[in-house]
Amino acid sequence: MTTYTRTQVAEAVNGAADLLLESANLTPDTTTLIDFVVNAALTRLEAPDATVEDVIAENWGVCEDEDCDGEDCDDGCGDAAVIRRLVTGD
Ligand SMILES: [Zn+2]
Repeated sequence: MTTYTRTQVAEAVNGAADLLLESANLTPDTTTLIDFVVNAALTRLEAPDATVEDVIAENWGVCEDEDCDGEDCDDGCGDAAVIRRLVTGD
């Protein structure tokens, strides 16, 4: 069995995502979901049981803004809010 490094896996997954991100006419929601899959794959390399919330927490952080604008927030939690809406319907 061939062994790959995390860097090699990251390059392969990001390259696969770029095939779509660079050439297809995607909606913002679809772009966000592709970004999520890239991050989820890399998170799950080391944490195979990671949930959607685990992936969000590790890759998009937690907003400290009391007046957070949800999906319009520029602080990373905007993308997290989009992912939650698409995955859970909330
Ligand atoms: Zn926020």
